[in-house]
Amino acid sequence: QKPTVIVTGASSGLGLNAANALAQSGDWHVIMACRDFAKAEKSAQKLGMPKGSYTVMHLDLASLESVRQFVQNFKNSGRRLDALVANAAVYLPTAKEPTFTADGFELSVGTNHLGHFLLVNLLLEDLKDSPKNNPAGSPRCIIVGSITGNTNTLAGNIPPKADLGDLRGLTTGLDGRNSSMIDGGEFDGAKAYKDSKVCNMLTMRQLHQRYHDSTGVTFASLYPGCIAETGLFRNHVGLFRTLFPPFQKFVTKGYVSEAEAGRRLAQVVSDPTLNKSGVYWSWDNDKSSLWFDSVDGALENRVSEEVSDDKKGAKLWDLSMKLVGLE
Ligand code: NDP
Repeated sequence: QKPTVIVTGASSGLGLNAANALAQSGDWHVIMACRDFAKAEKSAQKLGMPKGSYTVMHLDLASLESVRQFVQNFKNSGRRLDALVANAAVYLPTAKEPTFTADGFELSVGTNHLGHFLLVNLLLEDLKDSPKNNPAGSPRCIIVGSITGNTNTLAGNIPPKADLGDLRGLTTGLDGRNSSMIDGGEFDGAKAYKDSKVCNMLTMRQLHQRYHDSTGVTFASLYPGCIAETGLFRNHVGLFRTLFPPFQKFVTKGYVSEAEAGRRLAQVVSDPTLNKSGVYWSWDNDKSSLWFDSVDGALENRVSEEVSDDKKGAKLWDLSMKLVGLE
């Protein structure tokens, strides 16, 4: 059996392009874990992903029941698991009111963080049991991060900034009765997305600290560059969608094409030299870039103060375990 990688949100953007790069390499069988089966199949065909190199499986991260069902279906398929990529995300920057997952969590944190949190925890044993002949040399769990959640960067300092506060909103269930924001504040869709990305990176670091030594799984996160044309910005105002790509190309120089971003994510999944666990990878696009320190190739980036707060990470872990029903 070929090594298998699961990619969530593989129906568009970064996930689709990473799935394509991995499938085209011939080394991997790709499970495209998507909420829209037909869209995923159509996207795979459009990019010319070889028939038989991928399987589309239904996963709606905005429902914990769907996550559990996906895991069951995957286990029933009898496939080995060598890599898991938590990539899917929603971004609702113009929403005036919060919306909620099937389990009543604010949608961005519920999907981007809690859905993935449950998924990763339920598949950890399978990753641990990955056979040795894996092109990456070690089983991998990659959680896609972002500098928008990193307040030590220029982009991360554009308001509203990510800030989980003392997690009081999460303590009361993020269900909008007390608050739909992790810090307990007023709903702000852009901030909720950034907060969810901080959760993604804190989770990766917790996974590394808790399980790397005992499982041999390499846990990592990455910022693939600003992929200004993906569906992520579909909910933004029209003018933003028109101006954002040239702004990223010519002003910040952080722009990266979907195909290049996909190759970067595929590299973090399967390049044997990127086997360090607990790391947040990024790439330098341009020496004059405002977004990175200047270094070539994939580089180990610094995380923000909040993301490096392991006490906060541990608290997030405990609260998330309760919310997804693992404790
Ligand atoms: P896209 O919107 O193109 O892709 C998001 C994917 O997530 C889609 O496949 C979407 O499915 C899927 N998705 C959304 N909600 C759910 C759900 N409830 N269940 C299952 N799948 C779901 O955005 P990107 O490719 O840009 O984003 C991918 C990742 O990259 C995200 O983690 C994002 O935070 C990160 N990122 C993006 C950057 C950028 O500049 N674009 C920069 C840094 C990080 P569907 O097709 O059905 O809508």
